[in-house]
Parts: sequence; C-alpha cells; structure tokens
Amino acid sequence: MSEAAVSVREYRDAITRGDRRAIARTITLLESTRPDQAELGQAILEDLVPRTGGAARVGITGPPGVGKSTFIEALGIFLLERGHRVAVLAVDPTSPVTGGSILGDKTRMARLAQEERAFIRPSPSGGSLGGVANRTREAMLVCEAAGYDIVLVETVGIGQSEVAVRAMVDFFLVLLQPGAGDDLQGIKKGAVELADALVVNKADGANLDAAERTRLDHVQALGLLRPLSPHWTPAVLVVSSLEARGIDTVWATILEHGAILEASGERASRRAAQAREWMWSLVEEGLRRRFRSEPAVAGRIDELERDVEALKTTPAAAARALLDAFKHS
Ligand code: GDP
Repeated sequence: MSEAAVSVREYRDAITRGDRRAIARTITLLESTRPDQAELGQAILEDLVPRTGGAARVGITGPPGVGKSTFIEALGIFLLERGHRVAVLAVDPTSPVTGGSILGDKTRMARLAQEERAFIRPSPSGGSLGGVANRTREAMLVCEAAGYDIVLVETVGIGQSEVAVRAMVDFFLVLLQPGAGDDLQGIKKGAVELADALVVNKADGANLDAAERTRLDHVQALGLLRPLSPHWTPAVLVVSSLEARGIDTVWATILEHGAILEASGERASRRAAQAREWMWSLVEEGLRRRFRSEPAVAGRIDELERDVEALKTTPAAAARALLDAFKHS
C-alpha cells in the first residue's frame, strides 16, 4: 500500500476515534493552498463520507454585538449537559471594507472551548465567500465523522454569508436585538426570510419589555412573508443568553422542526438540494482557480484591469479577452 494510502487510513482511524488533533489537522489540510496537502485532505474526506450526515446542523446569524457567541456558548453548554457532542464552526468572509475578519478574536466562547466534548474552529480565512463556505462544509463533515452529533455554524449577519450558511444547515436561526430603535431590523436585513426561527436575545433586566415587543412585531411581520416550507412556520422566541433562559425552548423548537421535516421528507430533499448546490459551488471554485492560474490568463490580468480602470476598454471587452485567452490556452 502506498504511503499516502496508509496516512489516509491513519487519519480516518484517528478521526473516528474522536482524536481532536487529527480533526484539526485534517481541516487544516483541507484549507491548505498547497495542492498536495489539499489533495491529502480531500482523500481523507472521501474516506470519511460514509460516516457523515448524522449531525443536527444548525446555522446561527445576527449582527455584531447581538450576542452570537454568548448564545452559542449557552446553547453549547446546555447540549453538553444533555450528553451531546457539539462542534462550533464559522463562516466569516473577509470584510470587503476593512479586509479583516468580522467575527474576530479568539477569546470568544472561552468556557465552551475548555470542554472535552466541544470542538471549536474559527472560520477559514481569506478567499471568496464560496471558498470559505466550501471549507466550512468540509469541516462539518469531518466533525460528523468524528461523532459530533450537533454542529453549530455561526456567521455574521451581513452580505451573503447567511445565504451560504442557510445552504449548509437543517435549521437556520437569526438572533435579534430587543428594540434597537428599529423594530423590524431583521425583516429589512433579508436574513429573516431565510429563518426557521427568530430569537430575540438579551431578554433580561431592563430589556424584558422591549424584547417582548420586538417578538410581537416580528410575529406580525412574519405573517406577511411567504413561508419557506409548507410544513413549518418560523418560530419567534425570546432568550437571555447571559442568564441561560429560554435556551431549552430554542432546542425544543429545533427538535420539533427536525421531526416535522423528517416526517414530511423535506429534510432529505433539502439536504439533496444542498449537495447539488455544493457540487456547483466546488465547480465554480475550481474553475476560478484554474482560470487565474492559467499563464495565458494570468499574464494579462494586470494590464486589462488597468485598462478597465482607465476606461480604455469596457469591462465586457476585457472579460471577453480573458475568456478567449483561457479558451485558447
Ligand atoms: P456577538 O458579537 O454577536 O458575538 O456578541 P457577543 O456574544 O460578544 O455579545 C455582545 C455583548 O452583548 C456582550 O457584552 C455580551 O455580554 C452582551 N450579551 C450577550 N447576550 C446577552 C444577554 O442575553 N443579555 C444581556 N443583557 N447581554 C448580553
């Protein structure tokens, strides 16, 4: 047997034993820009596929400061106490404005990070949103093969990242601020249209009334939207992540949704559609990479970008020139 095959088998065995170093190392291989490493990562992943798919996949989004990490920590600890194993992953595309990450620092979820049965992995960094999301999906499969039965995928509620996360989970949860001077904050942001549940966080202390008002406003507003699923009306809940109140209701709602969609066949069809979409996302990522690394194309990119910026040529003509260079290469 070749050396690579032995190493794939060793990784697989270590991952299925739940070895967290092997899990982390495999995710790093998958994220690597070195083709040999990424290839080894993919070979390990292929070997793991039969053991994947078993987790409840939950996406969580919300604007910065709404309490995502506090909520995930509270939910994660609640689930650990009930015997589950919880993986927390993220899709945090590089901000187009600052060039930095949005979810940010490593000290988030410090309590959960110490738990033996929790695995926390920050978002893959850099690259296109599609690429970042593809790596997170792969990390999700590695975690499932390692026996994590609940995967929480966090993203910040801006741009398209919530669409990407909605496309990889069974249940999508949007966190809202109480009041916040804009009672229909979520509705305007579009994420609400994707939500299986809206959860108003910080329902404690002086915020209690505002949280309940925000809940009622969103119940009403949701009535105006066409539901995504014929079998499920999005729930609107209030929680205090800080005081760990309402977390049990959130989890009960996720379970109820899972049972209803399982029985109706919608969970299977949603996962099938997600797998198809994922395939195309990988095709696009691969094409983009090949396109940019093709010498005939790469040699002309700078010049054509400059011409487009200086209005010496139209974007359409420049795009055609690059595509022609690719076709004839
Ligand atoms: P993120 O940026 O969405 O991850 O938000 P964080 O989890 O970092 O929380 C932002 C701030 O809100 C922190 O100061 C938290 O302590 C606070 N916070 C989070 N959840 C609650 C809550 O349930 N109640 C109250 N009162 N504050 C909260």
